[in-house]
Amino acid sequence: MESMILRVGIARDKRFLEHKTGHFHPEHPKRLDAIYRMIDQYFRDRLVVIPAKPATLEQIKRVHSPAYVRRILRTAEQPITSLAPDTPISAESCFTAWLAAGACIKGVDALMEKTCDAFFALVRPPGHHALPDRAAGFCIFNNIAIAARYAMDRYCLDRILVIDWDIHHGNGIHDIFYKTSNVLYLSTHDPMMYPYSGALEETGADDGLGYTVNVPILREFTDDDMLAVYRDILGPLIKGYLPQLIMVAAGFDAHVGDPIGRSRLTDAFYGGVTRLLMEFRAASDHPPLFFSLEGGYDQRALAGSIQAILAALTEDAPPLPPVSPGPEAADLIRRVKTIHAPYGVFHD
Ligand SMILES: [Zn+2]
Repeated sequence: MESMILRVGIARDKRFLEHKTGHFHPEHPKRLDAIYRMIDQYFRDRLVVIPAKPATLEQIKRVHSPAYVRRILRTAEQPITSLAPDTPISAESCFTAWLAAGACIKGVDALMEKTCDAFFALVRPPGHHALPDRAAGFCIFNNIAIAARYAMDRYCLDRILVIDWDIHHGNGIHDIFYKTSNVLYLSTHDPMMYPYSGALEETGADDGLGYTVNVPILREFTDDDMLAVYRDILGPLIKGYLPQLIMVAAGFDAHVGDPIGRSRLTDAFYGGVTRLLMEFRAASDHPPLFFSLEGGYDQRALAGSIQAILAALTEDAPPLPPVSPGPEAADLIRRVKTIHAPYGVFHD
């Protein structure tokens, strides 16, 4: 069997710790501390660090409105600003948000120039809730949307798959690309949690009809249930869509150890789903893999899950053992396929 070890790039930078949210806020700099320590311990010298540099104003404005960008720039003048009730920021946050979006753009360059096959932006603040004119859910700029738009502009890509396995629905990415087929958005999320969006029946509009796949999961789902969901939904989608780039809004708050999510996934799920992704990728045209950190608020769960992902990407491993989903997961997979059958994006 062909070896599937990938060259992996990462973005890591101490400046991502300078975005301060207050002592009791879950989206805390210590999250990245834990991840960077794990990398030093297990992956030193095995990953290529892609230096981050801030995005340009034009790159940010491809997703965010000029008035919103001006508002964010003004926050650098005061010690604390509340962008939304759950999104307090510090004077340094404006630059850090700019740097996080820019790190994602540099990651796209590294993948397209084939410096690496996979890239993980280990950045703060997260991005998937950010809307064109509004901060929300700890997010300032929509890092993945900005990087996807850049990949379309700079490299003329017109089939980008965005997978979002954060426990919260990524309403920002969802809304920004709802009417285009250039981005296929697949989200698994708990519909009973913030932002309470992402219904199964919302499948895209206009040219994007069929290119939004919302998969509302049950918080009781086990690793096997979720791996079956990804095996049976993501596999046929990659075969049908043939993405030129696969991006993952990688949140880890569906982990059993997370203080905010109420789900029960373990580190093994994140390693398993990464191996599924690599198998599907090898069976299509080897599109590059991009990951960007979204949520996940338990330091041990974050470090362990990301360790499992990086191990899956950089080490040869036997194929995944078969997974056996429970009846609820099997039923959900059937319902997703039935709703999407008319659009023909799934390939069976
Ligand atoms: Zn989340």
